[in-house]
Amino acid sequence: MPSKEKGLEDLFHDALMDIYYAERKILRTLPKMARGAQSKELKAAFEKHRDQTEGHVERLEQVFEIIGKRVQGKTCPAIDGIIEEGEEILDEFKDTAAGDAGLISAAQAVEHYEITRYGTLRRWAEIMKLPDAAKLLGLTLAEEETTDKDLTKIADSSANRKALAA
Ligand code: FE
Ligand code: FE
Repeated sequence: MPSKEKGLEDLFHDALMDIYYAERKILRTLPKMARGAQSKELKAAFEKHRDQTEGHVERLEQVFEIIGKRVQGKTCPAIDGIIEEGEEILDEFKDTAAGDAGLISAAQAVEHYEITRYGTLRRWAEIMKLPDAAKLLGLTLAEEETTDKDLTKIADSSANRKALAA
């Protein structure tokens, strides 16, 4: 029988550990993606987002502090799978005309995962009356959304056309 004592605070804590694990994994993966990118623009976008991701990890540590919990990650099979697929694309399409388009598609899957997590966490923080946590989560959410849009721009301006022409 599930415990009736579990509520939104528990869900919030669980999702926080999930995204903390995911962010740390993404932090280790972005340099590989930057190395795998062919265009300078895409390489720079991955490097910029790697630096932003350090900030995401720090903001999450602040949120743990706000809710009085130990900073701790919890294995997130979703991000493990998304990154595994990205690594497959990198292996199979590296140095081909479709390489950058493939990398962008993989990176956008990661950003969309983050966007769904941060959207939920921010809303929960708001209704739990944790405005400081909601603000921190909202700042990261905005950076994930901007990154997603920037990746679409790179795909539209060059990567997709290069892949199509091959
Ligand atoms: Fe992030
Ligand atoms: Fe991100």
